[in-house]
Amino acid sequence: MREKTLAQTGQLRALVREAAEKLFEAGIEEAHLDARLLLEYAAGITVQDYMMDPFQVLPEEKVRAYHEAVEKRAARIPLQHITGQQEFMGYPFRVNEHVLIPRQDTETLVECALEKLEPEMEVLDLCTGSGCIAASLYLIGKKQGKVFPDRCFDAADISAEALDTARENCRALGAQVRLIHSDLFERIEGSYDMIVSNPPYIRRGVIEGLQEEVRLHDPYIALDGHEDGLYFYRRIADEAGRHLKRGGWVLLEVGHDQSKDVSRFLAEAGFTCIQGKKDLAGLDRVVMGMYNK
Ligand code: GLN
Repeated sequence: MREKTLAQTGQLRALVREAAEKLFEAGIEEAHLDARLLLEYAAGITVQDYMMDPFQVLPEEKVRAYHEAVEKRAARIPLQHITGQQEFMGYPFRVNEHVLIPRQDTETLVECALEKLEPEMEVLDLCTGSGCIAASLYLIGKKQGKVFPDRCFDAADISAEALDTARENCRALGAQVRLIHSDLFERIEGSYDMIVSNPPYIRRGVIEGLQEEVRLHDPYIALDGHEDGLYFYRRIADEAGRHLKRGGWVLLEVGHDQSKDVSRFLAEAGFTCIQGKKDLAGLDRVVMGMYNK
């Protein structure tokens, strides 16, 4: 009989190495990191546990669970769909195929919104998806004393399934957010001090070329900004004024080359625009406009 390989004996280090190789061959850049994170998810072994004793042997059923998770990842299913969660602004958000996986770039939008947030403000998040923007803005705002305890933010999405996910997230995290089933402003009645949004903004021609995890697993409607990627910004710029108080703010995340166009749409609709903070790559990712018509 052939001797078992170290990975077959369930030794952690060998298992992780084998998994990382498999993921690397599948074209995954962060193969080693993903191999360790999947170990935490499938076998409850945290990165610290692993470092403390990389030679420990994993029981067979955990090895099986780990292999299953690694197989999924090798098939280019996003890590977050396997583990069911993504951290955003320090909070764990549940994610699934109905919502865009929250991106780190979007944290820049929340940081800009936090700078403008004041206790009495009425806030609306459009295209809320997982609810990550509305919930984290509410929770951090509250911690910073910028949200009165009786406040409830509003958040809208066209997808009922996304709203279910957002609802689950807001409930689990204790964020008071009223969720509204609406195509942008269609069913919005309130008048706000701040409207935030990270709408779909990818140009149609570009979606085909995106990496498989995004192209096949993020919802198409969460990516699709129509032909030139700017469809939702035009609509938001046209309609936001009707739902903002005088002096109210619109804060939008934009694609890396869209800030000029979006600022122009807002300026034409009566907003005074400023650039928000740059994202981690140093790009203009947030356009902020104050309504002063
Ligand atoms: N607002 C959500 C997010 O930032 C969803 C965005 C979208 O679906 N385009 O994650």
